[in-house]
Amino acid sequence: MSTFTLAIHGGAGTILKSMLTPELEAKYLQGLQEALDAGYQILEQEGTALNAVEAAIVCLENNELFNAGRGSVFTKKGINEMDAAIMDGNTLDGGAVAGVRNVKNPITLSKEIMLHSGHVMLSGNGAKEFALNRGLELAPDEYFFTNYRYDQWIEIRDSDFYQLDHKEDNLKGMPHEEKKFGTVGAVAVDCNGHIAAGTSTGGMTNKRYGRIGDSPILGAGTYANDATCGISCTGHGEYFMRAVVAYDISCLMEYKGLSLHDACHHVVKEKLVKMGGEGGLIAVDKFGNYDLCYNSQGMYRGVKSAKGINQVAIYKD
Ligand code: ASP
Repeated sequence: MSTFTLAIHGGAGTILKSMLTPELEAKYLQGLQEALDAGYQILEQEGTALNAVEAAIVCLENNELFNAGRGSVFTKKGINEMDAAIMDGNTLDGGAVAGVRNVKNPITLSKEIMLHSGHVMLSGNGAKEFALNRGLELAPDEYFFTNYRYDQWIEIRDSDFYQLDHKEDNLKGMPHEEKKFGTVGAVAVDCNGHIAAGTSTGGMTNKRYGRIGDSPILGAGTYANDATCGISCTGHGEYFMRAVVAYDISCLMEYKGLSLHDACHHVVKEKLVKMGGEGGLIAVDKFGNYDLCYNSQGMYRGVKSAKGINQVAIYKD
């Protein structure tokens, strides 16, 4: 029996039912379902996990509700700088982009970097130039602008807060919206048992000029290996980098023989919690097992599989 499976996330954090109007909740769920359907369609037609991951993430990047591509958060300088990565678990090839501006779909740029640059990661203007050379679509600053993200930034731009600073004291006086993450990601296993993972983000509101998070760092926010799992993280990137979260889960499976579920729960609910790192992740293995694991109040998430599962959710179960 086929086990192809796609899981996605649209960020984790303090997401409570009381914070979303029914209309906004419905829009988020619809956005997640559209992304799931876009990626799943590729898996269903015997396409690759890599293409399914890219398609799902492009959909989320184009949806201004999520903090990636259009709708990315603003840096301390009031601009959008985006990070993304993609990894192919079959070949262990990876591509990543950091601090890039004006590229409509950073996840597609990551794939182009993986396939055609001879490198793994490009940043800033060099990444943008490569996007142009490869004929990728660029977009003006206005395309990425949303009032919602701009207002979030205006509220804290004169402070030293940045969006993922979750220490209770630092959250005092901050609007609810600041307490959540909005990064997007997808992981998939295809009908040939190949695994891929991808993550894309605008990072954190009011982040410092040039700050790079965990999302584009292979092994930290994104990792895929056919022998173990595919992982895409969301949360306070500084912690996820220091805990090398995605690779740690893969290692627990490879070297200690843990199941996908046990490895994810150990890292997210024990190790990260001890360090003070809030967030979550999505994971698949080659058998089509999946895990949507978080230590925060909620995570925009979804999963669709050949076994007939089709779910999208936001709040804690
Ligand atoms: N992990 C991302 C970062 O630190 C943010 C997020 O997940 O929303 O840039």
